[in-house]
Amino acid sequence: MPDPIILNVGDLKQWAYCPRVVFYHRFAPTAGVPTAKMQLALQAQEQLEPLEARRTLKTYGLDTAQRIFSPWLSSDQLNLQGKPDLLLDAADRIAIVDFKLTAGDAAPNLQMQLAAYSLIAEHVYQKPAPVGFIYRIPDSAVLPVPITPELRQSVVDAAEAIRTMIASESLPAPTDLRKRCEDCEFANFCADIW
Ligand code: SF4
Repeated sequence: MPDPIILNVGDLKQWAYCPRVVFYHRFAPTAGVPTAKMQLALQAQEQLEPLEARRTLKTYGLDTAQRIFSPWLSSDQLNLQGKPDLLLDAADRIAIVDFKLTAGDAAPNLQMQLAAYSLIAEHVYQKPAPVGFIYRIPDSAVLPVPITPELRQSVVDAAEAIRTMIASESLPAPTDLRKRCEDCEFANFCADIW
């Protein structure tokens, strides 16, 4: 029996954004050119952790939870792994918090990421994660995202689709949203779309 294909949560997030990004990361991992947006996101997170540590946990409805920054999570049952920005560990439940650098709502790819972390954390902590949160950095807003059955299923479906893509080594179709290509680290590889 072949070894299971372990996926990173980032793969699921990227899959929801553009499946080709996942292909390139897997089969041409050194090819991408980090964009200015990616560098900014890393810097912002480093600056945010001390501020977040002073925020009251009432914001999340989890007054007594313990904050765990950047925990490494992995699940042998799901064959998924990843490191969310923050995990809140309360007596009867847990919640994942992910930081978002830009304005706007919780886009589908961010919801996918939050749900994937939540599923793994449920396995690791053996507690439910009914809601996750996006912490929107520009205005310090906290956006709750219910981890619904539909969202959970979308994680399972996306993981299966990615594993099928990896096993077949076939280049997926590009995103329909051409605007995303303008700021993509792999823009030079997708000659067929321009
Ligand atoms: S250039 Fe466009 S289609 Fe190609 S990987 Fe980037 S987002 Fe996807």
